[in-house]
Amino acid sequence: TDDAPPWLRVQGVSVTFGALKALSDVSLSVEPGHIHAIIGPNGAGKSTLFNVISGLYRTTAGEVWLGDDELTSLRPHQITRLGLGRAFQNIVLPPHATVERSIMLGRHHLTSAGFVRTGLRLPSAVREQRLHAARVREIADFLELGDLFDAEVSGLSYGDRKRVEVGRALATEPRVLLLDEPVAGMNATESALMAEQLRSIRAGLGITILLVEHDMAMVMAIADRVTVLDFGTVIASGTPTEIQRDPEVIRAYLGS
Ligand code: ADP
Ligand code: MG
Repeated sequence: TDDAPPWLRVQGVSVTFGALKALSDVSLSVEPGHIHAIIGPNGAGKSTLFNVISGLYRTTAGEVWLGDDELTSLRPHQITRLGLGRAFQNIVLPPHATVERSIMLGRHHLTSAGFVRTGLRLPSAVREQRLHAARVREIADFLELGDLFDAEVSGLSYGDRKRVEVGRALATEPRVLLLDEPVAGMNATESALMAEQLRSIRAGLGITILLVEHDMAMVMAIADRVTVLDFGTVIASGTPTEIQRDPEVIRAYLGS
């Protein structure tokens, strides 16, 4: 395997649900090291696209590639293992888990030890557990969740819970991170902190970010590229400045 950051390529992807065409011939390329935003009205197909990339939905046509690996027919855990991490729009963390436990959930697919070997306290398994614990601590500190390490997720503010979910996704050691509406529902302070942390995930950790976001100010401030979806098709793709000037985008989305 090579260590060069991979391109994420979506090529001619279509998805239908019965009579509904949720995605029609969608193509986009996410450049390594970029923050790439997907915008578009409700129902445009943004979450469907994420579900296709992460292996939760099957395409009716088209392909998804991460570097030299075709993701299209793989299962979600295989896609995670190839370096595609995902934080969910609606948080799926177990309510009584601590911040530490919740971030640790992201490590499960990396654990070779398994519960039996850990239970037997084999030295290799204990050593591996220690490495996972250290990494989880690092991720919590990186996201400024260190002080909340032992707190229950259910007691946290909305913004902190969303950052724990990002931490869980980071714990999978992604090369490309998918974020579905990371600042939706956050207050201005929480959004600003998230925006800053996304920049440092990109700059400090070298992780490519593909995000769906409704907050246009945030998109324009942090995205290198923007792809606009409307009724399941790509109507524009370009830099934030190009997108803001695109007449079709203004008509379909920004104007509404
Ligand atoms: P967005 O995230 O852009 O708001 P979605 O991708 O969630 O849009 O949805 C796109 C369209 O596909 C919508 O009409 C939605 O109702 C439909 N859709 C999404 N997932 C499913 C599903 N599992 N079954 C049936 N229809 C779905
Ligand atoms: Mg959505």
